[in-house]
Amino acid sequence: MVIFDNLVVGAGISGATIARISAERGERVLVIDRRSHIAGNCYDYVDENGICIHKYGSHIFHTNNEKVWNFLNRFTDFNTFTLRIVAVIDGIEAPIPFNIGTLYRVFPQSLAEKIERKLLEKFAYNEKIGIADFQKQDDDDLKFLAKYIYEKVFYGYNQKQWGRIPSDAVMARVPVYVSKDSRYFQDKYQGIPLRGYTKMIEKMLDHSNIVVRLCADYKEIKEKFGKIFHTGSIDEFFDYKFGQLPYRSVNFKLETHCREFYQSGAVVNYPCNYDFTRIHEYKYYLGDKSEKTVIAKEYSEPFESGKNERFYPIDEECNRVLYEKYIAEAKKNNSLRFLGRLGDYRYYDMDDAVERAIDLF
Ligand code: UDP
Repeated sequence: MVIFDNLVVGAGISGATIARISAERGERVLVIDRRSHIAGNCYDYVDENGICIHKYGSHIFHTNNEKVWNFLNRFTDFNTFTLRIVAVIDGIEAPIPFNIGTLYRVFPQSLAEKIERKLLEKFAYNEKIGIADFQKQDDDDLKFLAKYIYEKVFYGYNQKQWGRIPSDAVMARVPVYVSKDSRYFQDKYQGIPLRGYTKMIEKMLDHSNIVVRLCADYKEIKEKFGKIFHTGSIDEFFDYKFGQLPYRSVNFKLETHCREFYQSGAVVNYPCNYDFTRIHEYKYYLGDKSEKTVIAKEYSEPFESGKNERFYPIDEECNRVLYEKYIAEAKKNNSLRFLGRLGDYRYYDMDDAVERAIDLF
C-alpha cells in the first residue's frame, strides 16, 4: 500500500501548485477532488465545434510576479491575449475600466474634451482611482462624471453581481483610469495557456510522486498524512460549527450561434441592462476557428450548498471575523493548512493563488 506524506484537497490551481512543489521536494502526495475533473474553476474543455470553453467563466491569466510567471511557464506556453472589455452603456459599447477613450465614446466631443482637461489637471496621467474615492469631487463637471460612472458602470453591475454594493476594495479592482490605455489589466505578463488551463494543471500534477483521485471527498479518506493542504471551504471542513461563510456563485447559460462571431470581443459587460452581468465569447481566447461560436451569459446568485459552486468570497468585516474563528480552530492542528480562494476566503486572482501556494512552502 502506498503511504503518502501529504494530502492536498482540491485539484485547482492552488492545490496543483502546492502538490507540485511538495512532490519536487521528494514528498509523496495524494491530491483529491470531489468533482470529476481537475483544474477547479479554471477547468476548460474543447467542445464539438473545436472551441475551448471556460466552464466556470472567462479566465485570463495576468501577473507582474516573475516567480509565478516562471513557475507556470514550466508547464505551458501562453499566448499574448490581451483582455479588453467593453460595457454596453446606454446602448453604446465603451471601454472598461472607464478611461479617457470611454469619455469620447459616451459623451459629445466638446463635453469629453472639457472633462478630459479637468481630469488631467486634477490627476496624474495613468493614475487609477477607485470609484469610492473618485466620488469625492468638488468641481461640477467632475462631480457629474463621478455620478455618471457610478450609476452607469458600477451601481447596476454590483446589484446583479453581489446583490448589494460591495466593499470599496472590491469595486476598486476596476478603477477609473486616467489614461488612454484601454486594456483591462496592465500587468507585464498576460495570456491564455496555449492548450488550455486543464492541460496546464494536468502537467503540474504529472509527477511520479503525485497520485490524483477524482470524485473523492476528504471525509471518505481514511489514510494518515504528515500534512493536509486544504483548498476547500474552511467552514464546511469544520461542519459549519461557527456558522456559514457566505459566497456568491455564478450560473453560465451557454448558447451556440451559427455565425462566426457574436460580439466585438471576449467579454462584454452589461452594467445597466438585462439580468446577466456579462457575456463571454470563448473562441477569442485561443483564436479557435469554427463557423459557429459559443457564448455564455453570466448570472450571479447566492451560493447554496448542493445547488451551485462557490465562486466569490464576500469581502465584509463580519465574514472576516467568522473566518478568523475557523482559522483559530485550524491552528490547533499543526499538520493542517488552508489555502486558495476558498481556504483563505480571499478574492484571489490566479496569480495570487499560485503565489500563496509557493509562499506556503
Ligand atoms: N465592476 C463593476 N462594473 C463593471 C465591471 C466590474 O462595477 O462593469 C466591479 C464589480 O464590483 C466587480 C468588480 O468590479 O465585482 C471586479 O470586477 P472583475 O471583472 O475584476 O471581476 P471578476 O472577473 O473577478 O468577476
